[in-house]
Parts: sequence; structure tokens; C-alpha cells
Amino acid sequence: MTNQTTFLDRLFDAGLLIDTGVDGLYGRSGQFEDVISAFERLIDRFGGADGAEAIRFPPGMNRAYFETSGYMKSFPQLAGTVHSFCGNELDHMSLLKCMDADEDWSKEQKITDIVLTPAACYPLYPTIAKRGAIAAKGALFDLQSYCFRHEPSKDPARQQLFRMREYVCMGTQDHVTEFRQTWMDRGLKMMEAVGLAVEIDVANDPFFGRAGKMLANNQRDQNLKFELLIPITSTSNPTACMSFNYHQDAFGAKWGLNLEDGSVAHTACVGFGLERIALALFHHHGLDVNTWPEPVRKALWG
Ligand code: ATP
Ligand code: ZN
Repeated sequence: MTNQTTFLDRLFDAGLLIDTGVDGLYGRSGQFEDVISAFERLIDRFGGADGAEAIRFPPGMNRAYFETSGYMKSFPQLAGTVHSFCGNELDHMSLLKCMDADEDWSKEQKITDIVLTPAACYPLYPTIAKRGAIAAKGALFDLQSYCFRHEPSKDPARQQLFRMREYVCMGTQDHVTEFRQTWMDRGLKMMEAVGLAVEIDVANDPFFGRAGKMLANNQRDQNLKFELLIPITSTSNPTACMSFNYHQDAFGAKWGLNLEDGSVAHTACVGFGLERIALALFHHHGLDVNTWPEPVRKALWG
């Protein structure tokens, strides 16, 4: 194996990830999935007793909710919208002609009511708002979804379709900030249990453009986002494998999430990047799970 062989090549060669011809879009082997399942069970062991309500949304969300969320305004470069052919027979003939001539066939593709989910928690807020006021003791949800982000890359840790496991907390400021702190502590313990060296640092979302820089700085200054970082493809630039976000009452106000006393709910979410965590494990402990250190195997598989 030469030095030129990248981690991605090694993952392909080992069959853990499967090349589709598109950067950031990969198949996963049974072994890769087994690591993700085992890590999710570890998450359950840490968070299961909290009594979160589990909800699973498909990887597409209501476009109207997506528009209200503001994602398209803040992160247009990452969003993926679903388009379908909405033409008549004549349009179909022209579609066939274009395809046969290797020309652009997408003219009659029209936007549908579905947008690819950008983060597992996005479909949750409007869903919970519809239920009415949130109990004074707050509310807690357990989510997992494939998410889409248009950020093609040769870095296997930056995929276009990947899974996020999230816990989302709604309640008072004290309640949700305590929730976030609890998961930062748990995140450190969990990664220690699986033999990964980590650090937690303040972070920001990749807001688009020059105006976005201000939003990013503001997010940092207010400590609204932290990331748990693990070196995967670079030691100087470790990869965010978990994020801890405090939205203040921004989502509560946007979606009309109120507590029983009429006040606007504060919200926070913690997200595990499941592929990134699996990749960190394979990178640090080797591509063959049978050779992983015994304590790590025990933490994952019992
Ligand atoms: P980054 O700064 O690396 O782009 P992010 O700030 O966009 O990450 P979040 O929006 O907080 O990440 O997403 C939650 C979690 O989802 C991240 O902590 C990470 O583990 C995972 N994640 C985000 N983007 C990707 C991606 N392109 N491929 C794989 N996992 C991802
Ligand atoms: Zn979230």
C-alpha cells in the first residue's frame, strides 16, 4: 500500500464503503452498519432512561416546513430539493429526444412538495407545535434520519447522504441548557468508552455568503454551538462527530412552540454523526473489527 492510498480508498478496498461514482454517496457493508447499530445501542444505554419520545421521519420533509425553517435562506449551498417530471405528452416526447441526444432533459422537472431533510430535527418542530402547549416539565425527543447536504468531497467523513441521531429538548432556558451540558458530558464518556480521543470546542454553522459570516460570528460569541471533534482524516483539522446546539427561543418563536404558562419554549438539540463515528472507530482501531481492543468491543457489543 502506498502513501497515496487514501482512507477512502482503503474503505472501498475493504468493502466497508461502496463506491457509487458520486463523491459523498456510498453504499455501506453489513459490517459498517453493524458498527453503527452497536454505537446506537450505546447511545440508548446513555440516554434511554431519560424517557424521550422516539420518532422516525423519512429522509424527505414537507417543503412548506423547510421554507419556514429558513434553511434555504441560510444554507442554500447545502439544500437538496426533489423535482419530478410534471409535463404532458408533448413534453414527454421532448424529454425522450433530449435524453437520446444527451442534452439537458431537466426542463420539465418541477419542484415537488418534498425537500431532502437537512438535519434530523427539522421536521420535528412544526410537528410538535401542532400538538399544542408543551408541559411545564418540558419535552424530549429521540430522532434518527438520513440527511442530505450538497457538499461533495473525497473526505469519507463528509458525505452527501448520512445519518444523524438526535435528541431534541424543549422547555425553559435552564432545562434545555442543562440537557445540552448533560450530553456534552455523556459524549465525552461515550467516546472514552470506545477508545477515541476527543475534544469539545465552540463552533458555528456554515451560513452562506458575507452576511452569513456575521451570523456565524454571533453564534460563536454566544456559545450557541459546540462540537465534539475527533481526528479522522486530519489531526490538525479534526472532524465534528457530535454537535450540541442551543437555539435559544428562536425555533420556539418561529414555530409557535409554547410552554403551558404561555412563554415561548427554548430548544436545544444534540446530534451524533453516525457515519463519522463509525469512520473514527475504523480509522483508530483498524478496518477489521475483530482486531479492535477488547474494551472497545465490549463497550459496543457487550
Ligand atoms: P461540519 O462543520 O463538519 O460541516 P456541521 O456543523 O455542518 O459539520 P451539524 O450541522 O451540526 O454539522 O450536523 C450534526 C452532525 O452531523 C455533525 O456533528 C456531524 O457529526 C454530522 N455531519 C454533518 N455534516 C456531515 C456530512 N457532510 N457527512 C457526514 N456527517 C455529517
Ligand atoms: Zn438539530
